Amino acid sequence: MESASGASRSSYDVVVVGGGHNGLVAAAYLARAGLSTLVLERLPATGGAAVSKLAFSGHDARLSRYSYLVSLMPQQLVEDLGLSLDLRSRITASFTPYLRDGQPGGLLAERPEGDATRASFRQLTGSDEEYDAWLRLYGDVDKLAAVISPTLLSPLPKESDLASQVDADLWREFVKEPLGALVERRFRDDTVRGVVATDALIGTFADLHDTSLVQNRCFLYHLIGNGTGEWRVPVGGMGAVTDALLRAATQAGAEVRTGAGVSGIAMARDGGEVTWHDGSTTHSAVGQHVLANVAPWVLRILLGEEPDTETKPSGSQLKINFLLDRLPALKSGIDPEVAFAGTLHLSEDYTQLQTAYAEAAAGRVPSEMPGEVYCHSLTDRSILGSFEGHTLTYFGLHTPAELFDDPASKSLAVDRALDSINQHLLEPLQACLARDADGNPCIEAKTPQDIEADLAMPGGHIFHGDLEWPWASNRARLETPAQQWGVATGIDRLLLCGSGARRGGAVSGLGGHNAAQAVLASL
Ligand SMILES: Cc1cc2nc3c(=O)[nH]c(=O)nc-3n(C[C@H](O)[C@H](O)[C@H](O)COP(=O)(O)OP(=O)(O)OC[C@H]3O[C@@H](n4cnc5c(N)ncnc54)[C@H](O)[C@@H]3O)c2cc1C
Repeated sequence: MESASGASRSSYDVVVVGGGHNGLVAAAYLARAGLSTLVLERLPATGGAAVSKLAFSGHDARLSRYSYLVSLMPQQLVEDLGLSLDLRSRITASFTPYLRDGQPGGLLAERPEGDATRASFRQLTGSDEEYDAWLRLYGDVDKLAAVISPTLLSPLPKESDLASQVDADLWREFVKEPLGALVERRFRDDTVRGVVATDALIGTFADLHDTSLVQNRCFLYHLIGNGTGEWRVPVGGMGAVTDALLRAATQAGAEVRTGAGVSGIAMARDGGEVTWHDGSTTHSAVGQHVLANVAPWVLRILLGEEPDTETKPSGSQLKINFLLDRLPALKSGIDPEVAFAGTLHLSEDYTQLQTAYAEAAAGRVPSEMPGEVYCHSLTDRSILGSFEGHTLTYFGLHTPAELFDDPASKSLAVDRALDSINQHLLEPLQACLARDADGNPCIEAKTPQDIEADLAMPGGHIFHGDLEWPWASNRARLETPAQQWGVATGIDRLLLCGSGARRGGAVSGLGGHNAAQAVLASL
């Protein structure tokens, strides 16, 4: 289905630059609408950050090497494209181990929340107040999600269209004031505050009081997916999502070329010429429309501009993949199969988050690294192949790319991530690591620089750039289909179709869907 060669023809209705999951979504919709569509992907395989890989020699476990959970992909998109996807719920939403007065404990949020969750809040905070505040918060989030989520596959609503459908105080709290104010007003406990706040900081380097409100946008995206905000496990790993999309695109007739690194895009009034290299030969093809699945910053380079370091996005996460022979036991005594099934928060108390931000902003690796781990194989063992242990995924916050300009920072950050886990374990995680074919421990760490080198995400930014609100400002010009769908580049017939499109961030397919609709609306 995928081949590494020149294209079969020289002219197409649409050429898609980049074969990430969003590029495949766009191609699938467009090919199904009868448009000739060419996808050009520089790597040997499609999927971008949504892939499964054999990360450790001697083991056939296929890890979701980069992204790992799905929430924002609308069920409607899955049905439109006939994707056979199994997205499975986790039994635990989150577990947050803590040490209070030297005593180990843990805050458990079940899925769905039940008596054990209430009891766990009471044990930590001494009353029901924080849990009641928690239920109120997520009840309010549900009200926002119910209004925003159904619009994601439609032309952009204006802010006023959405704001008028919810309580004005709610809109102000979530959309107009820094999220830190909401968290501090609604909660008292440092651990509970931190668990709430982390959704604002995934791949987003910000103080919780940042007036840019980028943390509010990140928070909202993390909680509105399909109206529930539930993060589900893709059975078979992220590669299964991309495989399903690739099948949908190629079965509809899209041509997908891998090993095709695009080096230039020249736009004209009636379309654009895309030039790529397959390792031995330069090729080109003309598209009446060109869709950019690459980040907007990369797109400008492909259009011939000099790389602009001032505007380059900067990622902020440390990703670590592990293979474990066994799950470690926790000091709190909780069953590891419950604790590791959901998001296990580490050093993510509210004050720890704020201190880590301040340290990282001052150029230092946080002394207590905030991050979270989750075990895919507790929900889906199909990714393990013949390996009999477990996978573990660590996603660290507040580790901006700039920290890793000093090469020594990577091992320091990995050590601190391990420290943040080990303080809650009865034996160090290192004792549970599987060994690869050469006898080395199965641990693979990726800084933002590594992500950029692997995937061409500029600065290793997981969303191709900071997230924007999933609506248009009240004064936005929404004249062209590209503007209406939030995929405009400022150049006619050249549209964004990836994470950098408005509403495009994360594994959602929204960037691809919305670009395809803009093309179809303009025909
Ligand atoms: C470590 C990590 C963890 C994450 N975790 C999650 C998660 O759990 N859940 C979630 O929803 N999101 C997560 N994300 C974010 C999510 O993975 C991305 O936002 C999303 O996958 C982006 O998809 P995309 O198709 O828009 O772009 P990409 O996946 O970046 O795809 C773009 C494609 O374009 C190709 N390309 C680049 N330059 C060229 C060129 N010159 N010529 C040809 N091809 C080119 C790239 O190789 C790539 O395949 C994570 C991201 C990372 C990095």
